[in-house]
Amino acid sequence: MSATERPFTSPLLHEKRRGNFACVGCDLDLFSSATKYDSGTGWPSFWAPLEGAVGTTKDTTFGMVRTAVHCSRCGGHLGHVFNDGPKPTGLRYCMNGVALTFKPITA
Ligand SMILES: [Zn+2]
Repeated sequence: MSATERPFTSPLLHEKRRGNFACVGCDLDLFSSATKYDSGTGWPSFWAPLEGAVGTTKDTTFGMVRTAVHCSRCGGHLGHVFNDGPKPTGLRYCMNGVALTFKPITA
């Protein structure tokens, strides 16, 4: 079972404005645009979540050991985190565009 959209289909992939990416399920802010980067994978990618915004669980589906990422408030599945991201964290939060909603800062 996977709810991941096909790569390069998410409008959030090309979102370049400043703002926060929030959980589509409960509207909790999860990632800042400041930590978004182009991973080349076709999914919105970040090198760090907002403080306390997400939780992780080990995911062994498909015969792989991966780390699944979920919303810390509603538990909604967001994507996975990998260890091949950029500095300073070295992490790549590979998110499903359908799990996120963008809230631009308009100040
Ligand atoms: Zn949520």
